[in-house]
Amino acid sequence: MDHRIAVIKGDGVGPEVVDAALGVLDAVAKKYGHKFKSQQLLAGGAAIDEEGAPLPKKTLKEAKKTDAVLLGAVGGPKWDSQPGEKRPEQAILGLREELALFANLRPVSVREALVDASPLKAEIVSGADLLIVRELTGGIYFGSHGTEVIGEANAFGRFVDFLKKEKTLPPGRFAYDVEQYSEVEIRRIGELAFEMAMKRNKRVTSVDKANVLDSSRLWRQVMEEVRVKYPEVRLNHMYVDNMAQQLILDPKQFDVIVTSNLFGDILSDEASQITGSIGMLPSASLGDGTFGLYEPIHGSAPDIAGRDLANPIATILSAALMLRYSFGMLEEAIAVEQAVDGFLLAGNRTPDIYVEGMTKVGTAEAGRLIAERIGSAA
Ligand code: NAD
Repeated sequence: MDHRIAVIKGDGVGPEVVDAALGVLDAVAKKYGHKFKSQQLLAGGAAIDEEGAPLPKKTLKEAKKTDAVLLGAVGGPKWDSQPGEKRPEQAILGLREELALFANLRPVSVREALVDASPLKAEIVSGADLLIVRELTGGIYFGSHGTEVIGEANAFGRFVDFLKKEKTLPPGRFAYDVEQYSEVEIRRIGELAFEMAMKRNKRVTSVDKANVLDSSRLWRQVMEEVRVKYPEVRLNHMYVDNMAQQLILDPKQFDVIVTSNLFGDILSDEASQITGSIGMLPSASLGDGTFGLYEPIHGSAPDIAGRDLANPIATILSAALMLRYSFGMLEEAIAVEQAVDGFLLAGNRTPDIYVEGMTKVGTAEAGRLIAERIGSAA
């Protein structure tokens, strides 16, 4: 059976790290007798240059016909002066929305060879292995937004609708963003998190701010309803402010963490430091079914682009997530992860994780060495 992959290399280091990941997928195909049919599509700055839009219609149409998307990164100083809706980053938001990808998964798994690369103490991070499940298409990023000027006639015009009661505000500018969640949105992300926990260590920590926010109280209630379907999974709730400190105090206490769009955005960046380098962390965006978009968490790193300096491991591990979640190839995904571990244990390091005494390798060489390990694994 052919597996169709939409490949969006993007900008900056995107093409370099994606090429490395494609080399690894080739090795997987050869070793396990699979056929990956990849189709290159344009998005981001490269698409603005060629087609005049960050997410051309053709890219969306073709991506929808595939089984998964592998993306490098988009953006860069060249396009920084573009107006909001024409910025390269719009491509990512558009892809998530159009492909109905409502969950963002970020596994944070400390590779033993790199325990010393984290700014946290080795004994705190060693063995940490958690999965952050962030709701991606709801919450405050998608609620009403606006800016009003108080003190003018009809100042309560738009925002009175959601404030429900008139509030006396001092004159001047007033801006608002509404955090909102429906139970349907909470239930589907909750179920996905519990499903993930069933395949891991059967623990879910739901993060909210239920002591203050109505939307968080509904979040908590719905998570309690979801838990009934998964009697084997232990659920606990944690306020987001407490989570911010627990994550760096004792990350090993967590298995699956499920949270809203805004809290997840912040917590997942915080968690990236547990592993040491932004060049190490993969992500998957999923919806209903097996279709997914896989990308490293880092951006296009224009400061090192085109110089063979980027760490391709985040993208290679994103390809491993694609094998696991979209193609159901668990053994193959584990083989990729083990090849990455073997590469690091052998002392190979890209510049971002280099320490004295190790062997410094470039992006392409790192990809080649990891691919080679897959080919030669028993
Ligand atoms: P960035 O993640 O690109 O870079 C931050 C720092 O990390 C830089 O010093 C960079 O050299 C380093 N870095 C990033 N990836 C690395 C890798 N694989 N190996 C080694 N070092 C790496 O973030 P930024 O500089 O804030 O953003 C640069 C551009 O990327 C901007 O245009 C931004 O909008 C865009 N961006 C895109 C995405 C995406 O495509 N999903 C995400 C974040 C930022």
